[in-house]
Amino acid sequence: MIRKTLLNLTKIEAAYFTEEDMPHYGLNHYLGCAHNCLYCYARRMLRMSREQWSEPDPVENALELLREEIPRTKPGTVMLCSMTDAYQPLRVRHSRSFFQTRPILEMLLEAGFYVVIQTKSPGVLADLDLFQEYRKRVRIGMTIITPDDLVRRKWEPGAPAIESRIAAIQMLSMKDIPTQVSIEPLLPGTKYKDIVSLVSRLYFNADRWILGVLNYRTDYDVYYSDMRNYLESLFDSCGMMDRVYFKQEHAAFPAPAERKDQKDVQKT
Ligand code: SF4
Repeated sequence: MIRKTLLNLTKIEAAYFTEEDMPHYGLNHYLGCAHNCLYCYARRMLRMSREQWSEPDPVENALELLREEIPRTKPGTVMLCSMTDAYQPLRVRHSRSFFQTRPILEMLLEAGFYVVIQTKSPGVLADLDLFQEYRKRVRIGMTIITPDDLVRRKWEPGAPAIESRIAAIQMLSMKDIPTQVSIEPLLPGTKYKDIVSLVSRLYFNADRWILGVLNYRTDYDVYYSDMRNYLESLFDSCGMMDRVYFKQEHAAFPAPAERKDQKDVQKT
């Protein structure tokens, strides 16, 4: 697939970004995603079938586009990826175009951009050396919606096993790379104890937590709101509220000091 642009200004919620006052860009160098999640919002937006979506098509001119776009773009934070996953399974990486994630990262980081990666794949560790070199300008996010691999198989049939994702975040954290864990979407059926399990296993490894609602089903909003109330108590009791972001509830990721002030005001 050939595209006309690659680096696009985005309005994705500030939760994913590190510097609030920067321009934010989204970069998606595949159309489709072999993780093939049942709840995939990107696939629904593009009205593609699950069969089409699970055979990702690489943007063949991604590197050429980026080479042209970087010099005329104000540096900011780039998210890889908002509409696919930058680390696709090996079985679909059949052409040269599937190995573009590494050179894309190198070009962005060398040009002074910040990069936020949100993935479901421990394949992200292939670029660990690059993250170590640019640790001040990267944040690696892993999406883990459940601790239970049977649930994962149902909802994310093409995505890597949960344990491999947990191990990847632990490894990144051990190497001092800024990390985040996204529990998005918080699926109905997810139990309070499931979140406790994830938080307890990754308490020391995830610098940030992002929780989000299943955004195309408004009938789950009550569930999300109830779970949010429970979880706020959990995160509060663990002293974690300054590293938790509930999507669609706040306009931006508040600085820790602001969060503390807000809570103090509410208590008085
Ligand atoms: S990983 Fe993201 S883009 Fe890929 S199928 Fe799942 S929800 Fe969609």
